[in-house]
Amino acid sequence: MMDKVDRILIDEQKLMNRIEELGKQITEDYQGKELVIISILKGAVIFASDLVKAIKLPLVMDFMAVSSYGSSTKSSGVVRILKDLDEEIEGRDVLIVEDIVDTGLTLNYLVENLLSRKPASLKICCCLDKPSRRLVPVKVDYIGFSIPDEFVIGYGLDYAEKYRNLPFIGVLSKDVYKK
Ligand code: 5GP
Repeated sequence: MMDKVDRILIDEQKLMNRIEELGKQITEDYQGKELVIISILKGAVIFASDLVKAIKLPLVMDFMAVSSYGSSTKSSGVVRILKDLDEEIEGRDVLIVEDIVDTGLTLNYLVENLLSRKPASLKICCCLDKPSRRLVPVKVDYIGFSIPDEFVIGYGLDYAEKYRNLPFIGVLSKDVYKK
């Protein structure tokens, strides 16, 4: 697998340290409240699993699946719900946990969709942010790391469904998709 990694962008230790900080911040911000954590399948699952352990509050976890890149490295801009929530979120404090915000199209759609269900509050926590690629504005409340415009894999992020199990964030070697 390592031969497909051009270089390591964020190593495991850095990820864990930042997640501890994010967890502390979220714990403080939601004191006395109960959270609904909505993690977006499949990319955000590994980040969400580590993040919830760093949040010292009562919470429930739910999942949504939306269409994204498929096996290409370019966003289609089309967002479809493939799996909806099990929980009702009306009147509840909701935190979306996402792997990466790139063009912003996915989160923009999700926010609109979830707001229509009338949660008490709705915030976003993203492991990674690629600000230079934004097409639509999205307010991300908690960001793990800002990264340059490169296609990354690992720590939940895939290329053609593989590499999610790499314990770090790495840059995908260009010769994997530029033949
Ligand atoms: P957006 O709608 O913001 O353009 O894209 C969000 C989704 O695109 C992410 O949830 C992720 O699945 C995918 N994505 C965006 N950039 C990358 C990347 O660098 N690597 C991988 N593996 N997926 C990405």
